[in-house]
Amino acid sequence: MPKETLRSYRPITKDVLERLRDAVGPDKLVTDPGRMADYAEDASRLRHMPEAVVKASEAPQVQRLFQLANRCRFPVTPRGLGTGLAGGAVPVLGGVVLDCSAMNRILDVDPVNLIAVVEPGVINGDLKKAAAGEGLFYPPDPASYDTCSIGGNAATNAGGPACVKYGTTRDYVLGLEVVLPTGSVVQTGVQTRKGVVGYDLTRLMVGSEGTLGVITKLILKLVPRPPAVTTLVALFSDMVQAMEAVHGVLTSGIVPSTAEFLDRRCLDRVGDLLPFEGAAHAGAFLLLESDGHPDVIRREMERMGSVCLEKGAADVLLAPDAAKRERMWDVRRQVSLRIEEAAPVYIPEDVVVPLGQIAPFVSMVPELEAETGLEIYCFGHAGDGNIHLNITASGEAPTEKVEAGVRRILAEVLRRDGTISGEHGIGMAKRRFLPMELAPESIRLQRDIKRLLDPGGILNPGKLFDE
Ligand SMILES: Cc1cc2nc3c(=O)[nH]c(=O)nc-3n(C[C@H](O)[C@H](O)[C@H](O)COP(=O)(O)OP(=O)(O)OC[C@H]3O[C@@H](n4cnc5c(N)ncnc54)[C@H](O)[C@@H]3O)c2cc1C
Repeated sequence: MPKETLRSYRPITKDVLERLRDAVGPDKLVTDPGRMADYAEDASRLRHMPEAVVKASEAPQVQRLFQLANRCRFPVTPRGLGTGLAGGAVPVLGGVVLDCSAMNRILDVDPVNLIAVVEPGVINGDLKKAAAGEGLFYPPDPASYDTCSIGGNAATNAGGPACVKYGTTRDYVLGLEVVLPTGSVVQTGVQTRKGVVGYDLTRLMVGSEGTLGVITKLILKLVPRPPAVTTLVALFSDMVQAMEAVHGVLTSGIVPSTAEFLDRRCLDRVGDLLPFEGAAHAGAFLLLESDGHPDVIRREMERMGSVCLEKGAADVLLAPDAAKRERMWDVRRQVSLRIEEAAPVYIPEDVVVPLGQIAPFVSMVPELEAETGLEIYCFGHAGDGNIHLNITASGEAPTEKVEAGVRRILAEVLRRDGTISGEHGIGMAKRRFLPMELAPESIRLQRDIKRLLDPGGILNPGKLFDE
């Protein structure tokens, strides 16, 4: 039971609702249970009803909401577009859900300084399009890019296939406007490419999962749009060979713009949808891309193809046509949904292992399956060691057995110097595993930081820490 349940949060009474209405404006408040039900869950399977929803359109409304929350003692849970996979936007202790999706203006795309200034509710894909219109590129590309918000991306430090070359959201956030849980507003960071004045509050906020402040504006770095991109697909009979090929490419002096993989179990589910002969029966599928000047990427593709063949690829296909490429990416983005649809028990983990551990870890997965009795689907970002382990079990599997199996798998990741989450975060879903990775002193320091910024404990309680 989280410690925060023991705190004396008070229910949102009629009187508090009146005060909320005065604070944020009547058109910003949702109390109808039907409409509020949409705010009870995110893309995890976790659920809890809020007592009210505030749809803020500007920072001062957020400030007034926090002032009231401290005075009347109710929790506030920030929410972007609710695609999170860790229950971060689920109001586990009731109170108010703060919907940030209406703060959705792209305030500037500046082709001179290569920055964008946006509000948090902007959809990732919309910013990509706006940047492309100026010949620029915003690289962070979670698979949910057309349905998730930039604010949610910053709060979770979202990543995607492009990370291997371009890094995660953190690498693109230069500065922020944040409303702190006390109600004050702070500007963090810079509008420049560099800046080291004072502590790095921007990096503290990015990835803090909506527990330290609410982001109301972001200054983001853009890069020139690569003139071309080329794709290579390689089929392997064996997953370890595929991972060795990725390692071979990464150590050959080439930085691919994508290095994604699917294992045999995933291919059993979606291989027949892939527009490549033999994919459904392969042991592993590797997707490598290179972006940049056409002459350079052509040479890089040839080199990557040779590395794959040297490592034992059964088939290598260079530069499939645009329709095939689009189809392939559609299928790649749907993998987790397909697995979830078919599995009575479905636990998405997104572990990361060091590059040198990708092949050894993956080769151990059958052993982990035999030991735990769970079925593990592996796919994801081979280029940065971020392996989406979709752990499944039959409906009859005892909960304790599944839990013990998941712990065993995570312990193996940590034993190999990995981390238990590369993208999705801890939220509610994984807070019980946090002490597996973080030492007590680190957790204590993080809780102290949380208390300093949120002395009333009103912002997103019940997340990250288990007690
Ligand atoms: C099909 C699918 C594919 C996905 N693929 C990826 C992937 O490839 N990579 C990846 O990283 N993630 C992925 N995700 C997870 C999810 O899309 C990301 O975590 C995304 O960043 C969440 O954005 P959101 O707007 O939906 O945020 P929400 O789910 O609404 O919120 C997520 C967290 O951010 C906080 N938050 C939201 N807005 C703010 C704000 N303005 N200020 C402070 N805190 C805030 C919330 O409190 C919560 O803790 C995927 C999800 C799905 C369903």
